[in-house]
Amino acid sequence: MSENTLVNKLKSRKIQPTAMRLLVLKFLVEKQAAVSLNLLETHFTRSDRTTLYRTLKTFEEKGLVHRIDDAGDSTKYALCPANCTCTYPNDTHLHFFCTDCENTYCFTDLSIPNFALPDQFIPEKGNFVISGHCPACAA
Ligand SMILES: [Zn+2]
Ligand SMILES: [Zn+2]
Ligand SMILES: [Zn+2]
Repeated sequence: MSENTLVNKLKSRKIQPTAMRLLVLKFLVEKQAAVSLNLLETHFTRSDRTTLYRTLKTFEEKGLVHRIDDAGDSTKYALCPANCTCTYPNDTHLHFFCTDCENTYCFTDLSIPNFALPDQFIPEKGNFVISGHCPACAA
């Protein structure tokens, strides 16, 4: 993905493109699966940590990424589909966590059902994770 495409991707979410934001976005785009916070922390230097956390927070607030809490030991981030608003349940999709390679996959085409929750429970976000073996590990 070209620098220009990355800049436009940020702008489409009303995010000012800064050097760090472009680096984080590039890193997320290059990975096929969701990226763990551990991996991001390792990739960026210690001095960048505060900026990294702030960047991820901004990305999440602007709907560029969503956070996934799967069965692994780290929070993960994945890019949202272009028109995602991250609202429950419309923009909430299924995730698959591979217990072998610990990758998390977004199935953005598989929406999670709108469960009828008991009275007075107000849903805001859904984090639907199925775990098992991905095709690469099952082979
Ligand atoms: Zn989203
Ligand atoms: Zn796997
Ligand atoms: Zn996802």
